[in-house]
Amino acid sequence: MACSHVLLACPFCGGAARFVDRGADQGTGVACTGVECTSCSVRFPGVSYFAAVDVAREFVAAQWNQRSTARPLAVGRIKHASGRLTTH
Ligand SMILES: [Zn+2]
Repeated sequence: MACSHVLLACPFCGGAARFVDRGADQGTGVACTGVECTSCSVRFPGVSYFAAVDVAREFVAAQWNQRSTARPLAVGRIKHASGRLTTH
């Protein structure tokens, strides 16, 4: 069955994303699927599953496609935070 889950482009480089599947372990029967960028190779670690690959892919696709709406910290706050980290 063809995979119908759409993966958004890589959030870091805009490259195409693809599923990375690892077949079921012979001992445990646990398989694993994840997502990686074909351009910069950033990787969503993936999930282990007993269920059908389609269910697992739906889950990782939803995670991969999620984009943060958080706004970046102001530069001043970042400098302040790193100053606290390096000053003892
Ligand atoms: Zn990328």
